Amino acid sequence: MRSYFPNLSGNDFHKNRIADAILEERLPHAILIDGPSGSGKKTFAKEIAMALNCELKKDDTRPLPCGRCNSCRRIKEGSFTDVKMLKRSDGKATIGVKEIKDFRADMYLSATESAYKVYIIDEAEKMTTEAQNALLIILEEPPKNVVIMLLASGTDSILTTIKSRTQYVTTSRFTSARLAEYLSANSQEARSLSFRDNEAYRALLVSADGRIGRALELLSPKAREENEQSREEIMAIVNALGKKTPYTELYAAISSLPQKRVEFSESLETLISALADLISAKKSESFSPVFFIDVETAKETGRDVPLQRLLRVYDIVVHTLRECEKNANVTLAQSNMATRIKMA
Ligand SMILES: [Zn+2]
Repeated sequence: MRSYFPNLSGNDFHKNRIADAILEERLPHAILIDGPSGSGKKTFAKEIAMALNCELKKDDTRPLPCGRCNSCRRIKEGSFTDVKMLKRSDGKATIGVKEIKDFRADMYLSATESAYKVYIIDEAEKMTTEAQNALLIILEEPPKNVVIMLLASGTDSILTTIKSRTQYVTTSRFTSARLAEYLSANSQEARSLSFRDNEAYRALLVSADGRIGRALELLSPKAREENEQSREEIMAIVNALGKKTPYTELYAAISSLPQKRVEFSESLETLISALADLISAKKSESFSPVFFIDVETAKETGRDVPLQRLLRVYDIVVHTLRECEKNANVTLAQSNMATRIKMA
């Protein structure tokens, strides 16, 4: 059987339905893709645009989209002029009527290079009512060969009149296994990383929390470096929690955390996740660690620190985070935290 959307794992029901509609040339003019942040909505929208314009669409010995023809490759790279995406402007809470009207005007121009012009509206749930009404006009009588895709995380704020004119598709967040499968099919970076450094790769999957978009971000060399550095800083503190560790060592680990308040607070939040894992590991055999790559690693790491001590440390770190939010001096907060932990 012909394979549909081979680059998207899961969501088979929606994949088959959309692919059949494309091949039978009865895909509706508007599709609403609803799913949590990072569940692959943009990727799905791009893949639909590729399938619509794939030069080998009629060749049923190939997957749909083929991913290799000129159109497929250019849509993937983002250099295809007939696939456009509208995003909320930086610093704005909503997508306004002006932006939708400009987008709409473009839809009325005929396609420049492809059979289908595809318009993607990201965060469609953030459109103002006025903007939605402006969009509605075009949904009522869409130009030929225009496909509009609305991406949304929840559709409560989308007008019923819009919803009734769109085909509804959902995407769900990926499990780590599915995420790994997706990344190995789509990212050279992921393939070489998983081959070279299995541990770092699994840590990355944990940090991505089932979100494709986040995983792709984390794969950039800069993000990877920051993520690894931050994990090392947290591990240095976790490893200094034993009662016998000299104060200087504990203090050195804590004072290596960032000195900027916002970044220090983020580190404390990560430390809190790590401590929560260590505490859960003492109490339960089966839980989903947030910081550690698996239950075994969390158990092993916290082996020499008693549960009561971990609980006290946890409270101290939460307390420090609150102090920080009240504008406490960071350097002082770090040295107080070290002293309190030493005495805990
Ligand atoms: Zn193709």
